[in-house]
Amino acid sequence: MQDHMVRIVSSDGLLRGVAAVTTDLVKEICQKQQTDLTATVALGRLLTGGALLGCLLKGQQRLALVVEGNGPLGKLSVETDADGRVRGSIRNPVAGLPPKADRFDVAGAVGRAGFLHVWKDLGLKAPYQSMVQLQSSEIAEDLAWYLTSSEQIPSSVSLGVELDSAGQVAAAGGLLIQALPPGDEQRVDLLVERLQQLPPVTSLLRQGLDPAGILAQLFNELDFRVQAEVPLSFYCPCDRQQIQQMLVGLGVAELQSLADEQQPAEVTCEYCRSQYHFSQQELLALINK
Ligand SMILES: [Zn+2]
Repeated sequence: MQDHMVRIVSSDGLLRGVAAVTTDLVKEICQKQQTDLTATVALGRLLTGGALLGCLLKGQQRLALVVEGNGPLGKLSVETDADGRVRGSIRNPVAGLPPKADRFDVAGAVGRAGFLHVWKDLGLKAPYQSMVQLQSSEIAEDLAWYLTSSEQIPSSVSLGVELDSAGQVAAAGGLLIQALPPGDEQRVDLLVERLQQLPPVTSLLRQGLDPAGILAQLFNELDFRVQAEVPLSFYCPCDRQQIQQMLVGLGVAELQSLADEQQPAEVTCEYCRSQYHFSQQELLALINK
């Protein structure tokens, strides 16, 4: 099944559901980032959460999620857009933590204390920025808390990354349920109850259900219509110009010391691992700018 996501809304417009399969995306990005098992599950959850939230964007809008806790992973970043193009990076890809009670210790790897930052470029003058404290550091609950407290839309998020015995990503996906204003508490309770009874998203995917099938199981007899179906893919929009700007941002002294090293400076994009080389002359030209 190719990675994609589906967004539905109940016919009265009060309930929204998004489901995604992200197996290949998580596999590809975690390979680029060279994550260990726990880091794969942590970054995979954030990538999937980013995709789900990205499904609520329109046109040229972009979204970035950054989780920064006091655990060994340091900082996890995910960026996405309305077209389902996703990239992600992790500061320290090796959590080096043993599983806890047969589960990967994502909360320990992220760190129990920290923040979730959300940036949205909605095409306005300044980007929208928000920050919430991490609740459980298991990612899904943290995203749900952000949506509920900061965006004021009661939300339930479920994220799953399942690894096989060789440590490879076997399945990854997620589910987002939102109660839209003015709200319908009774039916929200019903959906949340159903969500809790549902097997993990990854089990459903492995049973052969696709995102539309998972949403249909959840919404069941409730009337709904499909609003969007979006393919998901890895995409990094970095280019030489951006990297050049980043170098300029380092300041004259830092650039001069790079130029003094008498060899080309090598800059690696943290997301796609593309390498950019700048000769001594190019570095000097940047200083003179
Ligand atoms: Zn890149």
